[in-house]
Amino acid sequence: MEPQAARAKAEVTAATAAGRGTKAKVYFASVKMKRMQGEHTYPIKMLKALDLAGLAGVVAGKRVAVKVHLGEGTNFSTIHPGLVRMVVQKIKEAGGRPFVVHSWGALDGYERGYTAETVGCPVLPSGGTLEKYAYPHAVDEPNLREVYVSGEIEDAEALVVLSHVKGHGNTGMGATLKNIGIGLVTGRSRGAIHRLIATVPYWDREKCLSGQPCRACFDACPVDAVHWSGQNKDELHIDVHSCTYCGKCEEACPRDALDLKPDEMFRAFQRGMAHAARAVLSTFAPENVLFVNFILHVTPWCDCFPFTMPAFIRDVGVLVSRDPVAIDQAALDLIAREELLLDMIPGQFVVGEEGHPFQRVLGRAKNPYVQVEEAEKVGIGSREYELLDVEEIDVQAAAAEAEAQVTG
Ligand code: SF4
Ligand code: SF4
Repeated sequence: MEPQAARAKAEVTAATAAGRGTKAKVYFASVKMKRMQGEHTYPIKMLKALDLAGLAGVVAGKRVAVKVHLGEGTNFSTIHPGLVRMVVQKIKEAGGRPFVVHSWGALDGYERGYTAETVGCPVLPSGGTLEKYAYPHAVDEPNLREVYVSGEIEDAEALVVLSHVKGHGNTGMGATLKNIGIGLVTGRSRGAIHRLIATVPYWDREKCLSGQPCRACFDACPVDAVHWSGQNKDELHIDVHSCTYCGKCEEACPRDALDLKPDEMFRAFQRGMAHAARAVLSTFAPENVLFVNFILHVTPWCDCFPFTMPAFIRDVGVLVSRDPVAIDQAALDLIAREELLLDMIPGQFVVGEEGHPFQRVLGRAKNPYVQVEEAEKVGIGSREYELLDVEEIDVQAAAAEAEAQVTG
């Protein structure tokens, strides 16, 4: 066994042996197989993880929204419809009435294989076909006074969130928290959260336009993130999703007109996303939500991009938890142990030497742990967790305990 894998295995086993503390439980179905038998594959182990996490108690007798990102265009990096179907089937067996939801892209999800026939239940746009079906919620954040929670989510009685774990230019990692905070509010709130970055000014118009036309920052940027925007195309705009905060544009500027504040800009988005996630989860009783992270085919950018990207780390497995913060913290920690598959990283990325794998690809300033920090601050979960390898657990005893927690 490789040293890294051995260390990971030892930590998982130690956590299992430690038993049930007060930390959030995160159940882990590894892609690694002990033997060439179905029961050792991650989809079957995922079913065991769902039992262990108490899925039955979460969904029984309820209308259950199952959130899945259905991709765009020819992006086939999303969660396989067969895996979605397995979860849907499990919900039905437990007496729940599931329906799959996605936001603006739900209507063309069939182009990537997501239909009622393949996933086993209706596939609906979470906020209506025009994303106008939503409920406003007040938010305690200076530049984000309210968010609009998608109507079908507010109306549902239970929520199961299936998230493909991957990189993201605005959050470092896109997984459960992003799937809730960005994916389950409607377009006007998604836009408002994205605009939070611009509340931290970085361009001095007067200085920039004080002399002859200049494009020094455009030419210096290695990822073509600098653009003119606005009605008259005279507003300098940096696409922060692509930007790696390398600072080359600032160095190149002859008029000292650029002053990027990466930490502030990046954190503003995470704070808004955390508040939105809190608003979404406030519409459910805490015992009626469950989260699943698929650390499979981990790509540099998210599933909104209409093309398929190569995975840049090995597949890791599936996580199941009742805590949306703990599950993302666990995903980040597991990915932190992985080596980059350097020859799988598209040429435009300048791979750094230090930091989390997502930071090495997306930029040092894009610390993916900021989102879990901000989510913990707004009180929707805990970064403290136990990682429990499902292959080490007695299902019947643990499921009975989980069920007792739900009902008791
Ligand atoms: S900081 Fe770097 S990546 Fe970002 S816009 Fe400036 S030059 Fe481009
Ligand atoms: S390099 Fe400076 S002066 Fe030139 S366009 Fe960019 S911000 Fe304006």
